[in-house]
Amino acid sequence: MKNTKQKILVVGGAGYIGSHMVRQLVNARYDVVILDNLSTGRRRLVQGDDFVQGDLGDPALLSRLFGTHIFDAVMHFAAFSQVGESMNQPLEYYRNNLAETIFLLDAMMRHGVRRFIFSSTAAVYGEPMAIPITEEHPCMPTNPYGNTKLAVERMLVDCDAAHGLKFTALRYFNAAGADECGEIGEMHDPETHLIPIILKAASGQIDHIRVFGTDYPTADGTCIRDYVHVNDLAQAHLLALDALLAGGESNVYNLGSSNGFSVKEVIGKVEAITGKRLPVVDASRRPGDPAILIASSEKIKQELGWNPVYNDLETIIRTAWDWHLKQ
Ligand code: UDP
Repeated sequence: MKNTKQKILVVGGAGYIGSHMVRQLVNARYDVVILDNLSTGRRRLVQGDDFVQGDLGDPALLSRLFGTHIFDAVMHFAAFSQVGESMNQPLEYYRNNLAETIFLLDAMMRHGVRRFIFSSTAAVYGEPMAIPITEEHPCMPTNPYGNTKLAVERMLVDCDAAHGLKFTALRYFNAAGADECGEIGEMHDPETHLIPIILKAASGQIDHIRVFGTDYPTADGTCIRDYVHVNDLAQAHLLALDALLAGGESNVYNLGSSNGFSVKEVIGKVEAITGKRLPVVDASRRPGDPAILIASSEKIKQELGWNPVYNDLETIIRTAWDWHLKQ
């Protein structure tokens, strides 16, 4: 525990991953200011006291915010994150994910804030050439979402060279699950992610689950993904933050469980946990979906001592189901 509180700006702190981050920061005795425009975030997910509703595209707001507070670091979770949507609306993705991040970094540089933690994604890699994917794997995104995240990563490298910005880019695989407190969890509208969709089917909110592609080169023909609990993600951010605040250099890390589960395996697991037989319909492949994505997270385990504690699919689904039942 620290004696003097360090102050962290969490952009996107009213979102799914951002709200779990704020909860852990507050528990670790950081002073937290949340900025969120509530475009996809929810007021009821805000865990801290200091909440500002506003947009990174508002220069007066950023000047006021950085003029009022002396931030030790900024964490940036505010982004659009759906591959399919990004294919149909690329400019919206470039505006929200790239242009708005330029405004944020510009404000940081002008106000002397030089520590940054960035939510990146496995989508920066594109179609994997080898499994598990390490950080050395070439980055060749196959969709605008991945392109915007990789563009920001490159901008961060340039800001380090020019301005001494020290950053950590964390490349998430499939974030899932919820904190046990029951106050925060995943709630997208519309929902597109696999686990919440299966849970909606389990609670009768939708009448079937579509399986996107049953002819992939995997054992059961469905896509394999690496699901990582949102609290383990947040724990990795805390470690990265501590390292940066202790004078660490810029770095990039994967965050996954290093285990892969097929769509059908996830459905089977939810059936076992909920005791319900779920209606499943085979559908065509979703454009942009690689067959298999599994992370190697050895680098962050070895360098920062990341120790995921919710690291099995059953725990991930149980915590997500508990949250879902509370809604
Ligand atoms: N998926 C599916 N049906 C759905 C939603 C997702 O079959 O209704 C599949 C999707 O094609 C992918 C996996 O589930 O192979 C995980 O998708 P999700 O959207 O949750 O995360 P992504 O891997 O796109 O980040």
